Amino acid sequence: MSQSLNIKNLHASVEGTEILKGLSLEIPKGEVHAIMGPNGSGKSTLSKVMAGHEDYEVTEGSVHMDGVDLLDMDIDERSRAGFFLAFQYPHEIPGVSNANFLRAALQARLPKGEEIDAVAFYKDMYSKMDALSMDRKFTARSVNDGFSGGEKKRNEILQMMMLEPHYAVLDETDSGLDIDALKIVAEGVNRMRSPERGFLVITHYQRLLDYIVPDVVHVMFDGRIVKTGDKSLALELEAKGYDWVTEELAATA
Ligand code: ADP
Ligand code: MG
Repeated sequence: MSQSLNIKNLHASVEGTEILKGLSLEIPKGEVHAIMGPNGSGKSTLSKVMAGHEDYEVTEGSVHMDGVDLLDMDIDERSRAGFFLAFQYPHEIPGVSNANFLRAALQARLPKGEEIDAVAFYKDMYSKMDALSMDRKFTARSVNDGFSGGEKKRNEILQMMMLEPHYAVLDETDSGLDIDALKIVAEGVNRMRSPERGFLVITHYQRLLDYIVPDVVHVMFDGRIVKTGDKSLALELEAKGYDWVTEELAATA
């Protein structure tokens, strides 16, 4: 059984339009992979398909997490099995406090009859909030309700730190963050890097990758991975833009 998040020939459609057109990518446990690509290339579609968003129909291909069929699972099962997605546009959940939300998510991971230890939970949450420079007042506020763009992104990372997933996908977590917040968030991610965990960091800009240095960089275009390289590929993209990749593609077509 391969210890990886393994995406093979993935095709997915939304409202009858094919967005993912045979995307393949394997993230071995312990590695950080980045996907860069122009807007509209399908990056968020990929992340939402993996998380189980109901608007997207998988028409071909597979996604396996440590050998287990991810697409065969219900959304909550995917999460409990260790998959995590930090959304590009996090949802607001009015009426549910951040603390209760996190506690319920962690409780759902425990065997039946076992209760979460409230003291340990708060201690853990506060230390992780401190690491993200999040004010404690955010525990009592409704999830993302009225949060600024940057506060939502930090809250996504807090969720990730609390849930300790085996594989985490971060969809443009850098958007909406100023440079100081970006450094704090990147530090949070870097502290979670481990041989036991894989990351897929999706970003439009290379700036985030100055702080979360990836092992592998993939370029996505029109629903596929069209180029893969090391971290220097991100710098090359930053310097030359995406046109260079698409021109290269056209020349080899
Ligand atoms: P990216 O994240 O790379 O910018 P997206 O995955 O958000 O790209 O979008 C890829 C394409 O799929 C776009 O053309 C977008 O308009 C379309 N798309 C994504 N989600 C939906 C949806 N729910 N309904 C209709 N079109 C969608
Ligand atoms: Mg997107």
